[in-house]
Amino acid sequence: MTVAIIGAGMAGLVAARELHAAGVDVEIFEARDRLGGRAFDIPAHGWIPLQLGCEFVHGRPPELIELLRRARLPLAPISDVHHQLRDGRLEPIDDIWERFGTLLKPAARRRRDESAWSYLEEQRMRDDDRRMFAMLVEGFYAAALDDISIQSVAGDASASGDEATQARVRGGYGALVAWLAREITGVPIHLGHAVRSIDWTTKHVRVDGREFDQVIVTVPVGVLRDIAFTPPLDEPVDVIAMGPVVKLLVCLRDARTIPRELEFVHGGERGFPTYWVRSAYNAHVLTAWAGGPHAEALAGCLEDELLARAIDGFERLTGASGLRDAVVDHHHHDWQLDPFAKGAYSYTRVGGMHAAEELAKPLGERVWIAGEATSAEYEGTVAGAIESGLRAAREVLALGVASAAVRREADERRDADDNEQQDAEPEKGNHTGAWCTGRAAHPA
Ligand SMILES: Cc1cc2nc3c(=O)[nH]c(=O)nc-3n(C[C@H](O)[C@H](O)[C@H](O)COP(=O)(O)OP(=O)(O)OC[C@H]3O[C@@H](n4cnc5c(N)ncnc54)[C@H](O)[C@@H]3O)c2cc1C
Repeated sequence: MTVAIIGAGMAGLVAARELHAAGVDVEIFEARDRLGGRAFDIPAHGWIPLQLGCEFVHGRPPELIELLRRARLPLAPISDVHHQLRDGRLEPIDDIWERFGTLLKPAARRRRDESAWSYLEEQRMRDDDRRMFAMLVEGFYAAALDDISIQSVAGDASASGDEATQARVRGGYGALVAWLAREITGVPIHLGHAVRSIDWTTKHVRVDGREFDQVIVTVPVGVLRDIAFTPPLDEPVDVIAMGPVVKLLVCLRDARTIPRELEFVHGGERGFPTYWVRSAYNAHVLTAWAGGPHAEALAGCLEDELLARAIDGFERLTGASGLRDAVVDHHHHDWQLDPFAKGAYSYTRVGGMHAAEELAKPLGERVWIAGEATSAEYEGTVAGAIESGLRAAREVLALGVASAAVRREADERRDADDNEQQDAEPEKGNHTGAWCTGRAAHPA
């Protein structure tokens, strides 16, 4: 069995590992010149990993936790202390995820879908609950309130309820990418190869002209349409959107003026509504974050302008001062303009509740679509990417096992027929032609 995997992000790498371990011939095609996709770590600032893409483990998704255990990468818990601006003062938000879960309960109880905006309009929330709810939907799901499906938010296993604890991977997600890369040593990886066509009209799949038995496509949903499928995809791609995010990492040598109790801070102006601070020894990283409509409003800003807005916005919000002089470095990746992502991560639009499952259904037992957008439970996250990659690889393996069993059964039936024929016709040499034809016609 030969399998092509398109994309070497978390979904593609995990699928490759699973298939490679089962002895399948796998080849990976990756458009970038590096592995990891939206898991994109650059050299650390002191002991602090710099993660331009994913950073947190949301909840306790079993497949991700198991993979981290195997990779011997412990979780680094975070205190998850949040402050929000209220009447001109920063005040702690208690039990932010629990409160969010409670606000979502009426949506979870009924099945009808609507936008987060109309849900917000009809629920009688207190003002600060309303503000927190809107801030989390826009910031966490990177979506406009009037576009995202409230049912998809209510059904998200990682963001609300008992599971809603946040952590980081010690060493960063880049360490997981490096471990996965070691696990698939020997698998051919074609870096810098942006796949343009997938033809699955015949028994085999042709990937840019090369033939494979199966293909697992893990590219982000925003760029799926850039690959020419024959026959074309009629999957529900349009009800899954890519949300925009601007994430700026500011490395500081000194954070003395930042109040010590602050970890996550919300309510910023000047473009970035949310910030978080991480310190280790004398290195500090201030992250400025804008999601959904706030990220859209920052489109076109150069990095220097983003930096000025971030510092200014954070100082106004927290009362810190003199941070400009403490800046050692700053980093940002434009995910919206990135041709192999076209956004940060996916969210489900109103009415698209079953789109992820639909998208995940194999096409003609030859093409599998995986990647975070195809995970109904953990859409938009690393956990979703991993769950989807494992699912696709296991379905491909199950198909291989099933077809091997069918082949074995057919072989056994044919052998039994042959034996019967031999018993009935001792001079089989006279019938060589017919006998050979039967054998040759049998699928190998
Ligand atoms: C700024 C930011 C912050 C985030 N924060 C978090 C977080 O804290 N926690 C969390 O869980 N998730 C977070 N995410 C989301 C998380 O990073 C993704 O959900 C996950 O990494 C997606 O993995 P994937 O394998 O599905 O897709 P990708 O990582 O995008 O992998 C797909 C690969 O396909 C490649 N590709 C695209 N087109 C082609 C082509 N034509 N041919 C060949 N290859 C192609 C791409 O280059 C890419 O490498 C964040 C994302 C961003 C951008």
